[in-house]
Amino acid sequence: MKSYRTYAIIAALMGAMLFAGPAEAKQLNVVTSTTDMAALAQEVGGDKIKVEAIARGYQDPHFVEAKPSFLLKLRNADLLIAVGLDLELGWLPALVTQCGNGKIQPAASGYLDASQFAEILEKPTGPVSRAQGDVHPLGNPHYWLDPDNGRRIAKGIAAKLAQMDPENAAYFQQRAADFEQRLAQAEKRWQQQMAPYRGRKVVSYHKSWPNFARHFGLDVVGYVEPRPGIPPSPQHTMELIGQMKRDNVKIILVEPYFDLKTPNSIASKTGGKVVVLLPSVGGEQQASDYFKLFDYDIQLLTSAFQQVK
Ligand SMILES: [Zn+2]
Repeated sequence: MKSYRTYAIIAALMGAMLFAGPAEAKQLNVVTSTTDMAALAQEVGGDKIKVEAIARGYQDPHFVEAKPSFLLKLRNADLLIAVGLDLELGWLPALVTQCGNGKIQPAASGYLDASQFAEILEKPTGPVSRAQGDVHPLGNPHYWLDPDNGRRIAKGIAAKLAQMDPENAAYFQQRAADFEQRLAQAEKRWQQQMAPYRGRKVVSYHKSWPNFARHFGLDVVGYVEPRPGIPPSPQHTMELIGQMKRDNVKIILVEPYFDLKTPNSIASKTGGKVVVLLPSVGGEQQASDYFKLFDYDIQLLTSAFQQVK
């Protein structure tokens, strides 16, 4: 059944290639682990690439359920862009091994770990250990949530695309420059919106926001999870409530894939407000590209700050 489907898809692809013009035939086939990497690749790749993400924007990127359809995507990829820092450890390496596509194996030229371009926070100083279930053993992997890193990643992807498709190198560089300019403009607007709330203390469910917080001047003082990837415990929740009362913290940021029960109970005991903030492009329909993700989150945050005073 599966192989019949595979043949049908291959036949359809071959048919499409026969009728496509030379421009389409040359498109690089880019697959990314997450929607954020896909959004950045699309910004610089334009119509010279075809890009598809594996995880959906509303999924926890640490824990994605592997599906057979992912293997087909990977099998046909020229380039795989991963977030790295073990973000996808639970699901991507096995898929990459199983897909049998030599071009995108971690040591091959079609594998791009985007973390190499970004500024990484919370890098471990001692020996790396996952003993306590920590899902951030190599530093914080949610680094795309700082526009400065978005700019760096886009530049890195453009250079990679130029290397793989030298004929279109100027096109990719031009798009990267254009992206940088539009991002600089958007950043001015975002900084203005966030300016009144610089230094505000918040707590978040997971450690998704250190890069975002640093860029926009927020102070994340605690987490609903005792450690990244470890579910809340009654003891830790009690301590967090105490801390929020002492420090007068009113905002609880929650990623869309976590249960709201504990955050809601914390909010009711502290007079706080739960804000479901999106860490990824596509987390909601409106957050359909890298710019709209920040637009969405900043709009939500600023209105929440206004409500809690
Ligand atoms: Zn994480």
